[in-house]
Amino acid sequence: MDKKLIALLACPVCKGELKLDRDRNELICYQDAMAFPIRDGIPVMLASEARTLTTDERLDKH
Ligand SMILES: [Zn+2]
Repeated sequence: MDKKLIALLACPVCKGELKLDRDRNELICYQDAMAFPIRDGIPVMLASEARTLTTDERLDKH
């Protein structure tokens, strides 16, 4: 995914910074412990579509 595109994206919940997880193809907000899916290269920035991070994932900050 384009890094510039990611820089434009903010968490829809807290408007904070998102981290790209290339392995899972998700955008992660550690503040809310939510992961937003990227489908067909398009980030789905909906809280209703987001997954809650596991405790391990929350601790795994890069
Ligand atoms: Zn957030």
